[in-house]
Amino acid sequence: MKVIEISTSKRIEMIDITSHIRRVVKESNVRDGIVVVYVPHTTAGITINENADPSVAKDIENTLSRLVPAGKGYLHMEGNADSHIKSTIVGSSINVIIENGELILGTWQGIFFCEFDGPRRRKVYVKIIEG
Ligand code: ZN
Repeated sequence: MKVIEISTSKRIEMIDITSHIRRVVKESNVRDGIVVVYVPHTTAGITINENADPSVAKDIENTLSRLVPAGKGYLHMEGNADSHIKSTIVGSSINVIIENGELILGTWQGIFFCEFDGPRRRKVYVKIIEG
């Protein structure tokens, strides 16, 4: 397993980590298999979506914030209940197929680390399964 370290700079922020995952896959020399990208945090997530137009990530951030606003009305007393809920909506892992040593992503797809309670130092676990 490889660990990628990320420093986030905002409370809510989607960071394109596709190039990091590509590098880990290249360095593994695995030609065919699956890469599992996993976020070991309860107030962050991982998702695949468009990375061509940055407005898409911004729209996702804004919509999640509108659907799950920060603030009062939650039982969790730490003050970041909305961050936990956003994390569960987005999810904590993705899988991508590796073929001929390349990530099989759609033309417009990228892999995004989703920060919901930053700024923080974060980790992303990357596991490659050959097959
Ligand atoms: Zn909390």
